[in-house]
Amino acid sequence: MRSPGVTRRQMLQRMGGLSLAAMMPRWQTTSLKAPDLGDDRFLRLTVGNRPYRTGGMRLEREALGEKTLLHNYGHGGEGFSLSWGCAQEISRLLQHVTRSSTSVAILGAGVIGLTCARVLRTFGHDVCIYAKALPPETTSNKSGAMWTPAGYATGSTKEAKAQYDRVIRTSWSHFEKLANKNRAVRTLPVFDLVADRRWRTTHSGFHFYPITERTNLPLPGRPRHGWEYRSFLIEPPAYLANLLKEVREAGVKVKEKSFSTKDDLAELEETVIVNCLGLGAKEIFGDRRLVPVRGHLVQLEPQPLPYALAFESSYLFPRKDALILGGSWERDVSSPEPDPETGRRILENHRRFFS
Ligand SMILES: Cc1cc2nc3c(=O)[nH]c(=O)nc-3n(C[C@H](O)[C@H](O)[C@H](O)COP(=O)(O)OP(=O)(O)OC[C@H]3O[C@@H](n4cnc5c(N)ncnc54)[C@H](O)[C@@H]3O)c2cc1C
Repeated sequence: MRSPGVTRRQMLQRMGGLSLAAMMPRWQTTSLKAPDLGDDRFLRLTVGNRPYRTGGMRLEREALGEKTLLHNYGHGGEGFSLSWGCAQEISRLLQHVTRSSTSVAILGAGVIGLTCARVLRTFGHDVCIYAKALPPETTSNKSGAMWTPAGYATGSTKEAKAQYDRVIRTSWSHFEKLANKNRAVRTLPVFDLVADRRWRTTHSGFHFYPITERTNLPLPGRPRHGWEYRSFLIEPPAYLANLLKEVREAGVKVKEKSFSTKDDLAELEETVIVNCLGLGAKEIFGDRRLVPVRGHLVQLEPQPLPYALAFESSYLFPRKDALILGGSWERDVSSPEPDPETGRRILENHRRFFS
């Protein structure tokens, strides 16, 4: 049944079933506006390290003396996309330890730690977050962030793939709910010129979208072949600030604390510890499989473009706080200083695309 005041077009749009091209009036040419990529639009260049883990993200239980340790890290370039599903998996692992509410320490306050705190608190646990940095100072704040479950965070075993599938399904449903009520999440069309390359090389969650192949995407310039689907665009600064506020209001304690070794965890009073340290897990738990993959974002003044774009190894997201241009993956580089040369290359790639 239709709710009052919602048009058929809006309803289909919410359901993700109507393509942007189909929504354009007939009289209009197929071309949508190009972004303004002029130097005078430049706001800032940011850099962050994606926590990649060879063999996939780690979601498992380990005994730590009298305590139980639950790992939730190594999400690479998919942390936002997987966050709700991973938190649900942690809750499931915790049910194997105890069926009643217990005291839980969450290490880390990036998107993974905050989401986990939110979910475990909902199940009645007494939760405390410990982290050396809180938003806006986390890697998560340096993220894009589009719903992109590209499949790099899954392991190769049948169980790991089944777990990854569960995770993306749960996350998808949660973001779908948020898109209707959280102003930091919305859906928008994506024009993807390289989707087939990803489908060939990864176990991908893209099958959640209704996907339309187009010989001529409604982009300015020459005809371009590609795929159109809807996806979620998340605004990390606002989203993480909201999430931190929400967990505090729900009664989660938040303490700034730095850990140097695994032995430091013995000091914690909680009986269950959830490791959401991102790249920090490499030092504390000696996980050699964790590798930083550095990514730059060129941020221009916000522009109301009605689409996101993926081409070659570049992408463009029209966030409300900035127009985001991305496309850099530097393995095993973790310098926190942005490299202006990489920023120039990203900007030039986008200018060439629209020229
Ligand atoms: C440029 C870029 C673009 C991206 N785009 C996307 C995207 O489009 N979609 C998507 O889904 N994902 C994207 N990602 C990936 C996503 O940002 C990450 O997967 C996610 O932020 C990881 O979250 P996290 O909570 O594990 O880590 P972090 O955000 O790094 O949080 C780790 C927490 O642990 C704390 N910590 C670490 N070490 C210690 C210690 N020793 N003691 C105490 N506390 C410690 C930190 O202070 C922090 O609070 C992108 C990432 C980058 C860099």
